[in-house]
Amino acid sequence: MATIPVDSRVNSKTAEFFSRQHRMLIDGRFVPAASGKTFPVYNPATGEEVARVPEAEAEDVDRAVTAARRAFDSGPWSRMSPSQRGQLIWKLADLLEANLDEFAEIESLDNGKPFSVARVADLPLSIDMFRYMAGWATKITGSTLPFSDAFHSYTLREPIGVVGQIIPWNFPLLMAVWKLAPALAAGCCVVLKVAEQTPMTALRLAELIEQAGFPAGVVNILTGYGEGAGAPLAEHPLVDKVAFTGSTEVGKLIVKASAGNLKKVSLELGGKSPAIIFPDADLERAIPGTASAIFFNQGQCCCAGSRLFVHESVYDKVLQGVSDIAGGIRVGAGIDPKTEMGPLVSEEQFDRVTGFIDSGVREGARVAVGGKRHGNRGYFVQPTVLTHTKPEMKVVREEIFGPVVCAESFSDSDLDRVAREANNTIYGLAASVWTRDLSTAHKMARLIRSGTVWINCHNVFDASLPFGGYKQSGWGREMGEEVLHNYTELKAVTAAL
Ligand code: ADP
Repeated sequence: MATIPVDSRVNSKTAEFFSRQHRMLIDGRFVPAASGKTFPVYNPATGEEVARVPEAEAEDVDRAVTAARRAFDSGPWSRMSPSQRGQLIWKLADLLEANLDEFAEIESLDNGKPFSVARVADLPLSIDMFRYMAGWATKITGSTLPFSDAFHSYTLREPIGVVGQIIPWNFPLLMAVWKLAPALAAGCCVVLKVAEQTPMTALRLAELIEQAGFPAGVVNILTGYGEGAGAPLAEHPLVDKVAFTGSTEVGKLIVKASAGNLKKVSLELGGKSPAIIFPDADLERAIPGTASAIFFNQGQCCCAGSRLFVHESVYDKVLQGVSDIAGGIRVGAGIDPKTEMGPLVSEEQFDRVTGFIDSGVREGARVAVGGKRHGNRGYFVQPTVLTHTKPEMKVVREEIFGPVVCAESFSDSDLDRVAREANNTIYGLAASVWTRDLSTAHKMARLIRSGTVWINCHNVFDASLPFGGYKQSGWGREMGEEVLHNYTELKAVTAAL
């Protein structure tokens, strides 16, 4: 087949992977789409096509769901001991670790993010998540409920069944692992539909899943578009549960699609997270901390600190500091070792983010730094700080999902009023509070209506920390013990004695 122009800086194994004829994993076999259709994958640093992958549609979804159903209802997975399941998940972590650099390169070429970041963030977090959940496989238990001498009652926590999982493109591998690891630990069988923009690491992971020895049908991985493959998965009558990460808009469609058989739903959706700097904050930490809160991963984080609230007494200093950092970030192709910020994932995102900046300026915001395209090819946007924003502006209300922060000052010393302003959003995913005062920090942690509150830090993740949203940021939690509730049903058993 034709050689595809991947970046000459990647190693030959990565280049060879991109040039393969890609197949989806259905029922333990690597197969093309039933229709034979494929769609292109682009390198966002150049806009060039770097691979073609199968375009799954309803028929492929049906084949995958049928395979998962069989693997769950009568196949080996549900009969395998939790210990054996845990060992397989752990083995997958080992295989991922053994191929860490290759995965980081694939992720960088496909998503745009710096290779150096994928290596130290996406990959270790993914490996750790598999190991953390491998441990949980043997620890999912019920309890005894001694309410009466006349009865013996206990609960069983059982796998929910066949799970449809739909993920976004911002952390392609990590989002796949956040979904797969707990579902498998709980004993579920899975059909995973990856984002059309970034299918590559999941396809490579599919190979490791086979290598690890997961029985056929336990994990099925589909590449396809949202309407073509995601919607039929969310609607499928043989799917017991759908787990979705993506935009709030599509999350609402998932809820509607799931109504046919009332499948259980968990959603990890958008955010417009505040980062709040109090006058007593350690600015040496708060300035780089809040800059990284927005610029990490090109701003493409659902928990990005996209609304910066700074007390007026330190506002000028913070604004200067964050703007200096923004102006000094080395933007370039993710595969270049010097790069600190890569391109946005796609042309569509590039248009969306630059459109938001333009709308902010039209509504009266000022650009303190950035605001423009970087370079003249690929989907690069300069790290951008907007000031003079007002709560009713689109840039303040809506999730931009790019490297754009809206900075505002506040004068209030009343924490309830500061929190009210921070909570003035339809979202409730995360927030960070920057202060040296313990009482301020913990009072704010209680007042803020979001699933995560960071104190003197932002974007800190661990497999053990539950993550998810209040309000329109979602339903349920990812990670931690809590995520197991997404993938289990609780049964109460009562015997008369
Ligand atoms: P973004 O706007 O960040 O691209 P989306 O919410 O559109 O995020 O996409 C997240 C995931 O949802 C992707 O895998 C996408 O293909 C999928 N998706 C998009 N539309 C639908 C839909 N109508 N039904 C099911 N999945 C969808």
